[in-house]
Amino acid sequence: MVRGGEDGRVSGAGENGGVTVSAELRADCANCFALCCVALPFAASAGFAVDKAAGEPCGNLRDDFRCGIHAELRGRGFAGCTVFDCFGAGQKVSRVTFGGRDWRRHPGTARRMFDVFPVMRGLHELLWYLTEALGLPAARPLRADLRRALRDTDRLTRGTPEDLAAVDVTAVRDGVNALLLRASELVRAQVPGRKRSHRGADLMGARLAGAALRGANLRGALLVAADLRKADLRTADLIGADLRDADLRGADLTGALFLTQAQLNAARGDRATRLPATLTRPAHW
Ligand code: SF4
Repeated sequence: MVRGGEDGRVSGAGENGGVTVSAELRADCANCFALCCVALPFAASAGFAVDKAAGEPCGNLRDDFRCGIHAELRGRGFAGCTVFDCFGAGQKVSRVTFGGRDWRRHPGTARRMFDVFPVMRGLHELLWYLTEALGLPAARPLRADLRRALRDTDRLTRGTPEDLAAVDVTAVRDGVNALLLRASELVRAQVPGRKRSHRGADLMGARLAGAALRGANLRGALLVAADLRKADLRTADLIGADLRDADLRGADLTGALFLTQAQLNAARGDRATRLPATLTRPAHW
C-alpha cells in the first residue's frame, strides 16, 4: 500500500528535539513484495471496496507487485490503502528476513512470510516510537533505558522467520510503552499550565474546535470524526489515538508526541495544519 505523504522525504530534524528517523522505518514499497496487499485481511467498508482474506492477493495487485490503481485509490474506494503505514516492515521481511525470495516465485515461503509481516510491523512501530523518544531532550534521564529497548527490539527484528513468529509482540509493547509513558510525562511536565488528561477517552465526534490541548494526554483516545479545527495540540501525547476523519484543519500539532503518519493519513487537514517535522502532509489534504 502507499504512504500518504506529499514528498519522498526519509528523515527530518524534528521539532521534538532533533530526532532523525531512519529510512529503515519508512515504507519502501519498491523493495517490498506487496506484503500489505496480500498478508492482511480487508473487510468491505468505507476504506476498502471489497472483502479480502489474509494471504489472498488483492485483485488490484499486478504481477510486478505494484498496485494497478495506485493513482486513483481513494476514488475507487480504497482509501484504507492510502492510510496504512508498515513502518518499513515490508521491505525488512522481503529483503532481510527472506533474503529477497518473493512469495510468487517461492510459494513455499508465502505462509511464513505473511505470518511474520504483522509481527515485524508491530516491532517496527515500536522502533519508531523509541527513536522519537531518544530525540526528546526532556527524556534525557531515560536515554540508557531507551537505547537498551531500541537495541533489544531491533535485535528481535533480525531473527529468522521462526524466531519472529515466536515473538510475543504484546509483551514487548507493554515493556516499551511503560518507557514511552515516562518519556511523555517528562516532556509534558515542561509545558506550562494545566494539562488535560483524556487518556483512552471516548471523544468520538467531540466538539473540540480551538481547544487548549497543549501537553494533553490523549493516549489511546477515540477521536474519530472529532472537530479539532484550530486546536492547540502542541506536545500532546497522541500515541494510539484514533484520528479517523478527525478534522485537524488549522490545528497545531507541533511537537505532538508519538503521532504517526498513518494517524495523520486517516484524518482531515489542510495547509494550515502544523505538523511535527518528521511527518509529511498527506497528499489528500
Ligand atoms: S488496492 Fe492497491 S494498494 Fe490497495 S491492497 Fe490492492 S494492490 Fe495494494
